[in-house]
Amino acid sequence: MTSVADPINFLLVDDLEENLLALEALLQRDGLRCLKARSGEEALELLLVHDVALALLDVQMPGMDGFQLAEFMRGNARARHIPIIFVTAGSADLQRRFRGYEAGAVDFIQKPIEPDILRSKANVFFDLHQQRRQILIQRDELEASANALRAVDRHKNEFIAVLGHELRNPVMALKAGLELLKRRDDVELARDIREKMEKQVFHLTRLIGDLLDISRIDQGKISLQKQPVELQAILESAIEASRPLIDAANHTLVVGPVPEAVFLDVDHTRIAQVVSNLLNNAAKYTPKGGEIRLATAREDAMVAIEVSDNGIGIATEMQTRIFEIFTQVQNTGEGLRDGLGIGLALVKQLVGLHGGTVTLQSDGVDRGSSFTVRLPIIT
Ligand code: ADP
Repeated sequence: MTSVADPINFLLVDDLEENLLALEALLQRDGLRCLKARSGEEALELLLVHDVALALLDVQMPGMDGFQLAEFMRGNARARHIPIIFVTAGSADLQRRFRGYEAGAVDFIQKPIEPDILRSKANVFFDLHQQRRQILIQRDELEASANALRAVDRHKNEFIAVLGHELRNPVMALKAGLELLKRRDDVELARDIREKMEKQVFHLTRLIGDLLDISRIDQGKISLQKQPVELQAILESAIEASRPLIDAANHTLVVGPVPEAVFLDVDHTRIAQVVSNLLNNAAKYTPKGGEIRLATAREDAMVAIEVSDNGIGIATEMQTRIFEIFTQVQNTGEGLRDGLGIGLALVKQLVGLHGGTVTLQSDGVDRGSSFTVRLPIIT
């Protein structure tokens, strides 16, 4: 791709070397590159490979003369629109011989050449070329951003479709529960139904909470209540929140030794939410009876919190996209897919707001996954 910083080429065609040198000396300046040809054939070869802002053609040359060369140029898609200045020795009469004006700019200059006139004529074409180049670059940039916007728009539409399903399911379950409660007097059954409804309400509340968080972060409106919190306390809150999901799938949670007296300056709820999100994912994307590990380690001024599982893993090509909003890996096993693909985006943003990072390591499908959050500690 061309850039505005590339030199602008101009082509000089004359059978006499001394004329070429004289013209070059007249026009050459910073930002310009002079291409020289001693014949029409040589000029055509150069035009095949170079983008040229202006061609100065000597009219009288042995073999292909300047007009013939110009006719060839006008017949060639690449060279068709190159502005031409003919350098003539003869009378103005000659000008009528050239028929090709309709295809692009043509000018004449007579020998002996007046340097100022030639320079100002040439500069007009160089400026035009530069402007055209800028417009093309801007067009490419606009096209790229329009494509990116289209992709985001598609992404959002897909997300809305998934969101619709995600919201409909619990709402349908709640509706069915209400119907049943209306019809039955059985106390036992009523309790059972209520518990199921509570679970759905919990699910709905989390979904909506995540959605609101993402949009708050997006608008820079999230307020973090940072204070010194001990690492141990954060992990306990996270485990407590994720325990039901882990137990429901019969997973074993192995918690490694936690370094003592490590304090972080964080929003307790948010960072517990981050770790809990990772634990929930580990529980969701690991077949029943799996093993989830929560390991922590001090690394200089940071602490690493690692959540790993022996679950379905993540394909290599998905690994860079997984933290993008609305990204879900398709075709995961039946029953394993649940969620909107905003959990990890939220994790990344919340960790980022605390000056930390989150990384993923997975050897691929069915090879388990390991997420590591690194946060600064109070030293
Ligand atoms: P959600 O779980 O709501 O779909 P997330 O943003 O939390 O959204 O996760 C995005 C996707 O990353 C999930 O759909 C899932 O495919 C994949 N993923 C996340 N965590 C794991 C994990 N521990 N093992 C395998 N895949 C995972």
